[in-house]
Amino acid sequence: TQYVYRFGGGVSDGGKGDRNLLGGKGANLAEMASIGLPVPPGFTISTEFCAVYYDEGGSFPQGLRDEVATGIAHIEGVTGKTFGNPADPLLVSVRSGARASMPGMMDTVLNLGLNDQTVEGLSATSGDARFAWDSYRRFIQMYADVVLELDHGAFEEALEIAKEDQGFTLDTELSADDLRALVAEYKALVEKQWNKPFPQDVHDQLWGAVGAVFGSWQSERAKVYRRLNDIPAAWGTAVNIQAMVFGNMGDTSATGVAFTRDPSKGDRAYYGEFLINAQGEDVVAGIRTPQYLTKTAREEANAKPASMEEAMPEVYAQLAGVFDTLENHYRDMQDIEFTVEKTKLWMLQTRAGKRTAKAALKIAVDMANEGLITREEAIARVDPAALDQLLHPTLDPNATRDVLTKGLPASPGAASGTVVFDADTAEKKAADNIAVILVRTETSPEDIHGMHAARGILTARGGMTSHAAVVARGMGRPCVSGAGSLSIDAKAKILRCGGREVKEGDLLTIDGTTGEVMIGAVATVQPELSGDFATLMEWADGVRRLKVRANAETPEDCRVAREFGAEGVGLCRTEHMFFESSRITNVRQMILATDEKGRREALAKLLPEQRKDFTEILEVMAGLPVTIRLLDPPLHEFLPTEEADFADVATAAGVSVDVLKRRAAELHEFNPMLGHRGCRLGVTYPEIYEIQARAIFEAACDVADKTGAAPIPEVMIPLVATARELDLMKAVVDAAAKAVFAEKGRTLDYLVGTMIELPRAALRAGDIAEGAEFFSFGTNDLTQTTLGVSRDDAARFLGVYVDKGIYAKDPFVSIDVDGVGELIQIAADRGRATRPDIKLGICGEHGGDPASIAFCETIGLDYVSASPYRVPIARLAAAQAAL
Ligand code: PEP
Ligand code: MG
Repeated sequence: TQYVYRFGGGVSDGGKGDRNLLGGKGANLAEMASIGLPVPPGFTISTEFCAVYYDEGGSFPQGLRDEVATGIAHIEGVTGKTFGNPADPLLVSVRSGARASMPGMMDTVLNLGLNDQTVEGLSATSGDARFAWDSYRRFIQMYADVVLELDHGAFEEALEIAKEDQGFTLDTELSADDLRALVAEYKALVEKQWNKPFPQDVHDQLWGAVGAVFGSWQSERAKVYRRLNDIPAAWGTAVNIQAMVFGNMGDTSATGVAFTRDPSKGDRAYYGEFLINAQGEDVVAGIRTPQYLTKTAREEANAKPASMEEAMPEVYAQLAGVFDTLENHYRDMQDIEFTVEKTKLWMLQTRAGKRTAKAALKIAVDMANEGLITREEAIARVDPAALDQLLHPTLDPNATRDVLTKGLPASPGAASGTVVFDADTAEKKAADNIAVILVRTETSPEDIHGMHAARGILTARGGMTSHAAVVARGMGRPCVSGAGSLSIDAKAKILRCGGREVKEGDLLTIDGTTGEVMIGAVATVQPELSGDFATLMEWADGVRRLKVRANAETPEDCRVAREFGAEGVGLCRTEHMFFESSRITNVRQMILATDEKGRREALAKLLPEQRKDFTEILEVMAGLPVTIRLLDPPLHEFLPTEEADFADVATAAGVSVDVLKRRAAELHEFNPMLGHRGCRLGVTYPEIYEIQARAIFEAACDVADKTGAAPIPEVMIPLVATARELDLMKAVVDAAAKAVFAEKGRTLDYLVGTMIELPRAALRAGDIAEGAEFFSFGTNDLTQTTLGVSRDDAARFLGVYVDKGIYAKDPFVSIDVDGVGELIQIAADRGRATRPDIKLGICGEHGGDPASIAFCETIGLDYVSASPYRVPIARLAAAQAAL
């Protein structure tokens, strides 16, 4: 097998189609080189080697060593420099590059090839001793951190002390001699911590770095990132080795990152940041605050330092030309890294730019309207899950706000929460359902789990392309970055700003759209669903086949769902209505009753309440189908568990505490999910289902009389395993309908159907379809019962299962297509064989998951049902599935 692929200097062994083999970075470097853009020469060690590396226990076979030698010879040929040559040394960068971009997650080493001899050569050839020693100093620091994994704090401290000794504040004030002294100190630090001198052999340096990059694929932070982004561990990373170009060779050199369109709002304007006389990592790390790329952006931000357009007009013009070439070539918004070395422009990376949902919509719709892509491509371009960001509330413009400070609007949306100062605390509190705002001086990849757990992120340092900003945008978390007036003391858990203090646990609100940071929680308003959103949704609705319904049990949920485009209710869980405080007493009375008579008395009190619920829901959903599920959870769920509550409940229910406790003990189940629940309640206490059905039909008749539009209720029986269960329950429902219609002097169409949420039901779907006019796949329970994994206890081990590749994704989030999916397929086939026009839908959480929706499309279900806020996501996912 070939593992090494060259690029640059007129050679391209690969191209953009080779992303799986070369990783995103490697494939695009090869592609840019092949279309004639200025790319420093280099080569990529393919992702295929990553697996070999782990199989071989982290060693490098001779074959690879030979290929790498050829790759180095290629770079030497193009640059005219030689690796390790003391007179004119070739320096290289070593970077990771996986198939999917994982910003900041894996390791990079720059300036590799410097040692005590070559640093003199670099000094001579560049004519800049300061630059040479600074490069060596950076190289040792990075290598010690990334490859040798030494304590990087000690190196930073040595740098700080070197500056303080001279009264300097900036690194750039240090002279060549200062840096030479610092290098000596760094080497001593390495020897002290590592017990070996810093490697002087450039080949040892190279293999060390290559090993570290492959090793970083299995780092904790990379694993977390993969889990959050559904990236399989088996993909592996590639390693890119490339000739160094320097943005830190004086004031005609610079480095920067840019987007071909605004990644936050989607506007068609170049967007980016750069630093004069700096190396690439300086921009991303947020250590120096970068300057704007364009004059317009600088003026809009009221910033002083000249933009690149003003400071380097000629290079800027060339760069703008490259942006257009790349956008037209890739037909998508690009995220670009570049370096200017003594006025010569070099492209270091291009990739499809990460963007907010708002920008994704605007860019897709604009590009379709510009004719750059088709409408189908526009539909396919927007990640349905990202729409979530747009569907949530923003700050109420009329609410009073106590503005503490303002930073950069790094990732849009508003969030309120209690302040925490570290990622672990953020994760812990979020697990207890506490909304948190993570506040950091700057974030690093180690903070990723906390960023994910937080509602919003606030940093004191860093620009719009800092780690915090990029990651937050990718996750859809609101973020304000670079709020420079904040002074954060993470140890003392306190932040200070303008004479005020905010402590851990205090409430804070951030607005990632404006950059404002406010004390306390600020009221929010619902989003505006017009413009690009409406346009793309309309295109999507024109393409999709699957109908989209909502899981909703209150009139308010139904209203939201309709506004989001739901075409019916796919699951109304009636038990949620029972939990309401005004009713729970009657529910408990029913449960405590010892005979049917007692139960009927309590049910008679519940009937008008249920009827009212159904009336409102049917009115809101006028003209659309509404699936109402009869009672499902085990009865003990409605009884108190806390000792303190027993007395109150006993009084309210008119029984003694002893009776209440005895009944609670009787109802106790060891395995309630497989216990007395679902249609088993209806089989043992038919009067419960009878009264619920009566409430449904009375409500439907009332709504029909009142509005003139007859609703079509779909009555659904839960947790059916056998045809006989369904037949018994259907008889109860039909009898209730008949009685109500006789009383009301009218009839109505209605359907009776069942959930398919047990493997037996899926297998016997042929018999069950004799009685069922529809099936709705309850994939939460079906997953639980098929996998034998408790949906309430799975979190403890499922993470490990996903890490080890046992399940590709959490099966409660995305359908286990091979197992649960096969049962659904069987049930659909057998159900249709009995009743060709049977209506088929899905109402588990999977109904809002794009990958599961794609599966529903392949087996031809009629609809998916998702929670109201996921309805637009499902509409878009259904359209993508149909493309
Ligand atoms: C299901 O099991 O998938 C379902 C929708 O029902 P519930 O979540 O209420 O058990
Ligand atoms: Mg269920």
